[in-house]
Amino acid sequence: MGRLVMVECKCGYFNDEYMYGVNMAYPRVKKHHTALAKSGRYGNKWKELLQNDPELLVNAEYRLYQCTGCHKIVSRHCMDLYKSSKDDGCYYTPEANEVIYEYKHICPDCKKRMVYIPLSEMNCLSGIDNPEETVYCPKCGDMAIASFCGFTD
Ligand SMILES: [Zn+2]
Ligand SMILES: [Zn+2]
Repeated sequence: MGRLVMVECKCGYFNDEYMYGVNMAYPRVKKHHTALAKSGRYGNKWKELLQNDPELLVNAEYRLYQCTGCHKIVSRHCMDLYKSSKDDGCYYTPEANEVIYEYKHICPDCKKRMVYIPLSEMNCLSGIDNPEETVYCPKCGDMAIASFCGFTD
């Protein structure tokens, strides 16, 4: 079951429709992205890597990414390449040590690099304790709060 994430800021910014994690469509989407990557849709590098190593898979879980320039937040399929002997073709997502190549996400607005925002049950985030997990408001640039707010199918 997928999750929904809410980002809110004291300036009034509010969005509770960010997709997160693994939903029902995950096994199908993973196959689909892996096939597209093989055909070159996500760049030559991904195409070559997948052609050279047929055991590589695309991680199709939803994650949040934030632009290092304009602070835009998007929910995207992760797209990292991983290899795992434990993947049964269903709802498996890779451990950190199974990820072999990290996909670089680019901001659709300003073309700067986007960084992954790790979210966990424990830190419904203010980022105060861990600067790596800081979420900035896309509207005013101040520190915002991200938290789980619901489920998707
Ligand atoms: Zn941007
Ligand atoms: Zn704000």
